[in-house]
Amino acid sequence: MDQALARVRGWIRAADRLVVLTGAGVSAESGVPTFRDAQTGLWARLRPEELATEEAFRADPPMVWDWYAMRRAMVAQVQPNAGHQALAAWAQRHPGRLTLVTQNVDGLHQRAGSPGVLALHGTLDQDRWLEPPRACCHAQPPQAGRPPRCATCGNLRRPAVVWFGEALPPGVLAAADEAARRCDLMLVAGTSGVVWPAAGLAHAAAARGRVVVLNPEPTELDAVAQAVLRGTAAHLLPALLAEGDDA
Ligand code: NAD
Repeated sequence: MDQALARVRGWIRAADRLVVLTGAGVSAESGVPTFRDAQTGLWARLRPEELATEEAFRADPPMVWDWYAMRRAMVAQVQPNAGHQALAAWAQRHPGRLTLVTQNVDGLHQRAGSPGVLALHGTLDQDRWLEPPRACCHAQPPQAGRPPRCATCGNLRRPAVVWFGEALPPGVLAAADEAARRCDLMLVAGTSGVVWPAAGLAHAAAARGRVVVLNPEPTELDAVAQAVLRGTAAHLLPALLAEGDDA
C-alpha cells in the first residue's frame, strides 16, 4: 500500500491538470450516511430511487419534503472531514490545477473552502419552484407549509437538487466533462460509480489520462483505473495531498 500511495503521489505532483470526482463516501466520515446506508428508521422501507424523483414528490409532496428536511438538518450538524480539508488546502496551494467535481449535495466541500466546486447534483441548501414560476410566484414570499407554496396559484417549492431521471445543470456538466477530457489524472473518491452521467466522467478521463479509485469497497470504476487504493477518503486524501509532497 505504501508503494501504491507513493506512486500516486508522484502522479499528483506531475499532473498539471488534476480532477477529483467525489461521491457520498467522502462525507461518510463526517457522519453523512451514503444512500446505501441512509435508509434507516422512518425511511427504511423506501429506496432513494423512490424518494428522489419528481414522480415521488408529485405523489406525496410532504413526504419527500420531510425527507429532505431531515437530510438538511443532518448536514447542518456535521463538519467537513480531513478529506474535504485536504482537497481545499491543496487547491489553495496550487491555484488553477485542480477541478473538484462532486455528486454530493451536502455542501461540505464548499464549507471546507474548496473554490469553484462543480456540484453535479446541486446542493441541499436551495429550493426552487416545481412549475415555471408565474408573476404571482415572484410577487410574494412563499406561504409556509410542507412544502411552502404560492398563495395564489399553489405552485410548490421543491429542493433544488437533481433527482433521478432529471438532467444535470448543463453548464456544470459541460465544465466537468471538459475538465475530465483534458486532465492528466483523475482521483475518484467515495463513489460507487453506478450513477450516470457522473460515472461517465471517469471513462472520459481514462481515454487520455490516468484514473485512480479511492474506496474501501470494489466499485464499478475499478476496471478503468490504473490504480485502486483501498481505504477511506479521510485517510487517503490527506495521505496523497499533504503538504511536503508538493511539486
Ligand atoms: P453511493 O451511496 O452509491 O456510494 C457510496 C460509495 O462510498 C460506495 O462505493 C462506498 O464503498 C464508498 N464509501 C463508503 N464509506 C467511504 C469512506 N469513508 N471513504 C471513501 N469511500 C467510502 O454514492 P454515490 O456514488 O455518491 O452516488 C449515489 C448518489 O447519492 C449521488 O447522486 C449523490 O448525489 C447522492 N448522495 C449524496 C450524499 C451527500 O451529499 N453526502 C449522500 C447520499 C447520497
